[in-house]
Amino acid sequence: MKFSHKLLLWTTIIIALTLGLSGYYFVNYVFETSLEREVGQALDENSILRFAFETAALNVPVKYDLLQNSSVEQIASNLETGGQGTGRLLRISDEEKNVLYASDGFETDDELLSSTEENQYSYRVIRVDDSFYIQTGSSVNALGRVLYLETLRDVSQVFEERQMGFTVYRRLMMLMLVLGIVIMYFIASGLTKPIRLLMRAAKEMTAGDYSYRAKQVSNDELGQLTQDFNRMSEALEETIGQLEDEVQAREDFVGAFAHELKTPLTSIIGYADMLRSRKLDEEKSLLSANYIYTEGKRLESMSLRLLDIIVTKKEGAKLQKIPVSALFEYLRSMFLPNETMEFIFTYDEAHVMADTSLIQTVLVNLLDNACKASEQGSKIEIEGHSEEDGYRFTVRDHGIGIPEEEVSKITQAFYMVDKSRSRSRNGAGLGLALCTEILALHDSKLEIESRLGEGTAAGFLLHEEGKEEQNEEIYS
Ligand code: ATP
Ligand code: MG
Repeated sequence: MKFSHKLLLWTTIIIALTLGLSGYYFVNYVFETSLEREVGQALDENSILRFAFETAALNVPVKYDLLQNSSVEQIASNLETGGQGTGRLLRISDEEKNVLYASDGFETDDELLSSTEENQYSYRVIRVDDSFYIQTGSSVNALGRVLYLETLRDVSQVFEERQMGFTVYRRLMMLMLVLGIVIMYFIASGLTKPIRLLMRAAKEMTAGDYSYRAKQVSNDELGQLTQDFNRMSEALEETIGQLEDEVQAREDFVGAFAHELKTPLTSIIGYADMLRSRKLDEEKSLLSANYIYTEGKRLESMSLRLLDIIVTKKEGAKLQKIPVSALFEYLRSMFLPNETMEFIFTYDEAHVMADTSLIQTVLVNLLDNACKASEQGSKIEIEGHSEEDGYRFTVRDHGIGIPEEEVSKITQAFYMVDKSRSRSRNGAGLGLALCTEILALHDSKLEIESRLGEGTAAGFLLHEEGKEEQNEEIYS
């Protein structure tokens, strides 16, 4: 059963019970009040008749000491027809509770009479055929006799009104219930709309549409749930996107790797085949052997680079506080000034958090790239500056530069802007991929700015020792 239907069913049950009970209580309360009023009037009537009887008895000519039965009948008959309404129902009984006079239709048992004592009032509500009456009883003292006077008051109207009240209320209740169900149906479906929208979103996502978002239609707990669900979907979409990118990157990597293997292998196999199948002169043999050697070397450096990437990923970095000067001294010793290239080192003294050998690898790769991209006699600037958010290293060359649309791609494994140029300089297209892995371990990333024909600046930030403490002091 649907949640909205359950809500509707329970609301209907509660409304029906509430309306039914309150209606029953209300109609019954009105009935009880009316009946009480009628009882009061019946007792008043009895009292008036008793008084009238006693007065009439006083006016009977005194022939005997006691009131005669004939006089009782006479007075009773007068009282029966007297007053406003005709058809007053009364019954007079003597001391022994034997009936002396009874109006026509006064046909009830003597249960009330037998329980009525002298100087006492009593009453009961009785049903005779289809009519309801209030029967009252009291004793009358008339001329030395104690008689008993009973009256009957027709209260069928009160009972009919109660019946009518129930009928009217039942109809009203049905109407209100139908109206209530219709209104509740719309309210229930409005209240459960966020749930339906969430269900739809869950279905869409199960079917593979991770970009689908549930529409938020309320600001209550369900609205909050929709928001949380959408946030969860966003996170899921992002993770799945990342996984897809990773799978794609792996596929690209395998494709590029196979391609990069094929080129040197084809040359090696071709030249080796030539050497074994024909007798070549010394010069050609040397040339072939040289090709095999250089291509083999390229394969070797490529496999070493790949190994570097895998090992770096696996082993991670051991960060420690190192002086920047040590890194620059190392670079100076590696890249000695020569007649083809001029290296300019400028740096601020500081300590950075880094894995020495890994950061040396990054800097050497960037310098190597700068050298490969530069013409003879070019300047290459290696800078280290303390900045607000860390220590920035920059390697700047004035070489061939990189086309704008290629800048974002050069960190991909095996990507080379100009393959033949890079290969001729023994490049495998893996240096920057390795740098990216190393910098990720240092919580940093490679930033490259380049202008075609003007040069390239490649840089990255490292945590500078003492920077956080300084900031804490300023803010505290
Ligand atoms: P490897 O570093 O594996 O020996 P590589 O230098 O070709 O080979 P990367 O260092 O990953 O590979 O560089 C990728 C490509 O980016 C290079 O082939 C080159 O085309 C381009 N590139 C990198 N640095 C520069 C630069 N400073 N100036 C111009 N192009 C550059
Ligand atoms: Mg390189």
